[in-house]
Amino acid sequence: MQPLPTDRSAEISGQRPMMTGIGTPIMLGICLLLIAVALMRWRDNGWGAIVWLGNFVAMTAIRLPHAERNRSNVVIVARKGIDETLLLIAMFATMMALPLVQLATGVFAAADYTLPDGVTAIGAVALVPMLWLFWRSHADLGRNWSPGLEVREDHGLVTGGVYARWRHPMYIAIWMAVLAQPLLLHNWVAGFLAIPAFTAMWLLRVPQEEAMLRERFGPAYDAYCAKVGRLWPAVRS
Ligand code: SAH
Repeated sequence: MQPLPTDRSAEISGQRPMMTGIGTPIMLGICLLLIAVALMRWRDNGWGAIVWLGNFVAMTAIRLPHAERNRSNVVIVARKGIDETLLLIAMFATMMALPLVQLATGVFAAADYTLPDGVTAIGAVALVPMLWLFWRSHADLGRNWSPGLEVREDHGLVTGGVYARWRHPMYIAIWMAVLAQPLLLHNWVAGFLAIPAFTAMWLLRVPQEEAMLRERFGPAYDAYCAKVGRLWPAVRS
């Protein structure tokens, strides 16, 4: 096993703070309230927004049990630089907060655009394989999944399931969700901003994540990378 911490890593012992546990029901309550108000505004929001809301609920339902279970993981390395914190805030804002606020209030209506129904439908159809991949990647990573860059005690290198085909299947699913979002939510703020936010996430996080796993798993991770591409089996990076 390789030495763990680097200069940008924090060594952590013990479980996550209780605040995460208290924060989850509060966040869920706020989300449910915004979803209920957004649904009442369905005429203003259009059918693409209803699909987006359904997908938001489905993604949350897939992730929540893993988040709750993995809260008891003992984390031994966590990369929590300012860039990682800013990226998580940007993802939260562009994939959750801004769309829900817009759909519930219409506050960004000045940034609306229109798209033909056929284009909206492409976004809706893309969510089907996206949800499958999102679900499978959480299931395959199991206890090794974390929303941030972390290595837990007993962290295992996952190379099976969807990880036998791609190194980053969960991020591929999120790419699909992010690209579908502006097709479903016809608004530059609520729909489009997720694309630059996740582009930054991809560019900054993936090299750090891979370096962290390489430090942890050494030659085993190199062998895995030699066999499995980042985005597509044929693409080696
Ligand atoms: N990039 C992956 C996982 C995202 S979740 C994907 O897109 O599917 C982020 C966490 O997953 C990281 O903290 C890392 O510790 C863990 N992780 C990523 N790939 C892994 C692998 N192949 N095996 C075990 N853990 C992995």
